[in-house]
Amino acid sequence: MALNSYVFHLFYKFKVLVLVSLCLMVLWTTFSYFVDSREQFSKAKSIVEDFRKVISLQDSQKEEKIKPSAKVPTVKSFQSHCPAVSPYLRGASKLIFKASLTLEEVQKENPQVVKGRYHPTECSALQHVAILIPHRNREKHLLYLLEHLHPFLQRQQLDYGIYVIHQAGSTKFNRAKLLNVGYLEALKEANWDCFIFHDVDLVPENDFNSYTCDKQPKHLVVGRNSTGYRLRYQGYFGGVTALTRDQFSKVNGFSNSYWGWGGEDDDLRIRVQMQNMKVVRPSANVARYTMIFHKRDHGNEVNQERMKLLRQVSKTWKQDGLNSCSYKLLSVEHNPLYINITVDFSMQPKIS
Ligand code: BGC
Repeated sequence: MALNSYVFHLFYKFKVLVLVSLCLMVLWTTFSYFVDSREQFSKAKSIVEDFRKVISLQDSQKEEKIKPSAKVPTVKSFQSHCPAVSPYLRGASKLIFKASLTLEEVQKENPQVVKGRYHPTECSALQHVAILIPHRNREKHLLYLLEHLHPFLQRQQLDYGIYVIHQAGSTKFNRAKLLNVGYLEALKEANWDCFIFHDVDLVPENDFNSYTCDKQPKHLVVGRNSTGYRLRYQGYFGGVTALTRDQFSKVNGFSNSYWGWGGEDDDLRIRVQMQNMKVVRPSANVARYTMIFHKRDHGNEVNQERMKLLRQVSKTWKQDGLNSCSYKLLSVEHNPLYINITVDFSMQPKIS
């Protein structure tokens, strides 16, 4: 009996010992886990700090480098880049064109646009984009385009400026030459990364159609209401296109020789292909536009010489383009919603 109770006592002690050591092991593991993770955390913190220092150094070096020419509002170095896809995008929207709309109303709706320019304040924009709109006698279309384009570009978190290049006088309209002027004049006031060449009568319907430049020249009008939202033809490169500063300069810009309607966009596509670049397009469900109906303008009759000009691109592109774009600059006005550049081409010889 005594032996029994002795064995029982020993066994009980042993159980207590095992229990205590188990508790100690658990305590030790928990303790070392916390110490370890604190160390890991401070290590991670210092890595992030180092990384931040490198980034802000790169940013400030970049700012230093572009300071002389860039008048684009500089963004503080600690600001992070805007996300690749803006959180403000809404997708497809039904466009309404109110007959009584005024410029003052559009101005009121866009208080953050100053002298035609805007930049997001919450983050640093991924690209600085100049929108170039050739124009003559289409005030109402311009108003509708400004009404829709400003909020559209702000929702895309872009640092942008809208330039309207107005052709004075009654010489035949020259869309391509106006766009060359827009490119050259816009670069005099800011270091734009990307150019959007934009017809005045095309209004984008979906803000997922990004007004930024890609590695290749981009054509943004895959479909429009007037053509049942189908691409007009495989090589169509008209309406709205996006080219980086370098892509556009590589092809020597547009030809200056297309007076009247048609051909200049096909000419640009040929230039792009000759430089071994490839036209890219966003998906058809987002690259949709509403075309504001209008009759053919007086002074913009169909260019009957366009086929002949198109056959000569490989011979003419080097001499006919940005490097030969001469014009008389009449004025540059910084209006609240856009920068208005007025040019006169009436002294220009008609090259064909
Ligand atoms: C013209 C282009 C125009 C296209 C679509 C072509 O025949 O050459 O300039 O953009 O038709 O209208």
